[in-house]
Amino acid sequence: MTLKLYENNSYIKEFTATVLSIEASGENFEVILDQTAFFPEGGGQATDKGEINGIAVLDVQEKGDTVVHTLAQPLEIGKTVNGKIDWPLRFLRMQNHCAEHILSGVIHKMFGYNNVGFHMNDSLITFDVDGPLTAEDIEKVECEANKAVFQNAKISVSYPTAEEFAQMDCRSKIELVDGVRLITVEGFDTCVCCAPHPATAGEIGLIKIVNFCAFKGGTRIEMVAGVLALSDYSYLHNTAKAIMKQLSSKREEIAVQVQKLGDDLAAARSEIKALNEKLAAASLKTELIGNTLVGFTKDADFNALRNIANGRLSEAEYIALFAETNDGYNYLVATAAGDARGIVKALNERFSGKGGGRPDCVQGKIAKAEEQNLIDIFQNR
Ligand SMILES: [Zn+2]
Repeated sequence: MTLKLYENNSYIKEFTATVLSIEASGENFEVILDQTAFFPEGGGQATDKGEINGIAVLDVQEKGDTVVHTLAQPLEIGKTVNGKIDWPLRFLRMQNHCAEHILSGVIHKMFGYNNVGFHMNDSLITFDVDGPLTAEDIEKVECEANKAVFQNAKISVSYPTAEEFAQMDCRSKIELVDGVRLITVEGFDTCVCCAPHPATAGEIGLIKIVNFCAFKGGTRIEMVAGVLALSDYSYLHNTAKAIMKQLSSKREEIAVQVQKLGDDLAAARSEIKALNEKLAAASLKTELIGNTLVGFTKDADFNALRNIANGRLSEAEYIALFAETNDGYNYLVATAAGDARGIVKALNERFSGKGGGRPDCVQGKIAKAEEQNLIDIFQNR
């Protein structure tokens, strides 16, 4: 049996213990100690990292009433060893896991929704509740959850009897049995959980909901707290400062300025497009060949070609336009009453092209060719 030091004291960063057993497991060794502060994964929180006698702990798992540590090197049975957990990582997880309890408790109190999914990694916490929430609701929930932090609400661990448990206002719906481990954030939440939590909510620091969306009839919420909230704030602050510098703008004005830039860009693009069309039309060289007005220009897109062709449909039965590009031509053949598909077939076959369309308008791309060779297609129709 292993005494689980983390269950009643979340703050043990270093401890001594006696090695009870060692078993080889593949290339590694499974070590059982008489006591440990290493939290095996549970309640959605990952396994603690750290070292024992300077040897990295690769994994920690609970097996019955023992906790098994996986190490890359063996220890000696009966010896006293020194364990040291990766405290900054554990504290980050404690802050964020507990913040998730508080948010879930607040949502349960305000809306009656249950937490139906929870996932945490070391940069983001995601959880799902079984009801819809609006942006306004999310703001209220976040504000209420942070009250627990500002009021430095006490956080306690208890093991009530089944009878006591039945009387308690607990968010977790589990069987009424003696000695379940309850985590209570005074005034905000009571929930069954096996993970280590801080002793007061003030240690959690800021609780920030960074995203939410409708998910399976409920709501998926992404949040960060404490250390993660600080690094998120720093990242966003630095990003905002960089944008402010680029725009020579005050922070209150950056959203408006960026919107204006977007509008200006859209207007400039549309102007460039119109100018390109004009340029393509102005540089167009045309020649009437049989029933087809054949034209050559440069760098015009299909829209531009279509607009030019539409304006000249009365001049011939077919309008065939070619716009030179880096690797060949964009082409478009339009007709008011005929069927342009025969022309496109001949063009594609002769000049390794691709394209198609409706009888009144076909378009495509062909490989580089001499203008005269293209003209021949129409001469020989
Ligand atoms: Zn929990």
